[in-house]
Amino acid sequence: MLIDSHTHIYLEDFNDDFDAILERAVEADVRIMIMPAIDVSSIEKAISLCEKYDGLYAMAALHPSEIKDCTTSDFDRVIELCSHPSVVAVGETGLDYYWDQSFNDKQKDYLRRHIHLAEAVDLPLVFHNREASQDLVEIVRSEKQKSSHPDRIRGVFHCFSGPASLADDILSLGFYAGLGGTLTFKNGGVPETITDIPLSSIVLETDAPYLSPAPFRGKRNEPARVRLVAEKLAELRGLSVDEIGKQTTENALRLFHLDPARLLSV
Ligand SMILES: [Zn+2]
Ligand SMILES: [Zn+2]
Repeated sequence: MLIDSHTHIYLEDFNDDFDAILERAVEADVRIMIMPAIDVSSIEKAISLCEKYDGLYAMAALHPSEIKDCTTSDFDRVIELCSHPSVVAVGETGLDYYWDQSFNDKQKDYLRRHIHLAEAVDLPLVFHNREASQDLVEIVRSEKQKSSHPDRIRGVFHCFSGPASLADDILSLGFYAGLGGTLTFKNGGVPETITDIPLSSIVLETDAPYLSPAPFRGKRNEPARVRLVAEKLAELRGLSVDEIGKQTTENALRLFHLDPARLLSV
């Protein structure tokens, strides 16, 4: 069995064929999926899907790209939704310096708020990182140092795509690397950057509808394709897909405290 630990299947991109997507996921033995939030309405959509289907879980956070116009009342709502039983992580939060650098300070402020929230409610964090590795690692490290519960500051650097030095930082902080479609991209260079990451510190993801793995690069992604990521990782490690599935599933079950008996079926 495989777990897609990061998938935005509540987005409109999936409205037309939602049931078919779940069926293909089950066929590929992807029986648990976790839905990261972008804004408050996405948390509510994800929670309502969790109430309809077994094996689905939600996260709560404001995505770094949404921070520019967000208010403290939006964040208050995130705090409230964290106590919903379907919410298993604070995510995705983090830093994104790729599109617009004009609100970097506000992003850092909200990153710290999300870390404090995760620590208070004892949920793992899921970090989004685009061109911001240094600041992100520095903030996580300093918050862990200041914390009276440093073990509670744990989670995933999702969509890990190198460099190898970032892998070292992730491991030293006690976090997992979330591996997705970029692992399969030709000339992406990602496989060389993950050689030192033990399998016990890896979770798999699609980030659907984005980052479809080869040979579907550029097309809409979906949870079933987490199997292609598992196949690539199996090839790189000289292991079977079953071994990759077993270990990465165990990792996600443990980190997110998921119920191994509650599986998606359609
Ligand atoms: Zn992301
Ligand atoms: Zn995402």
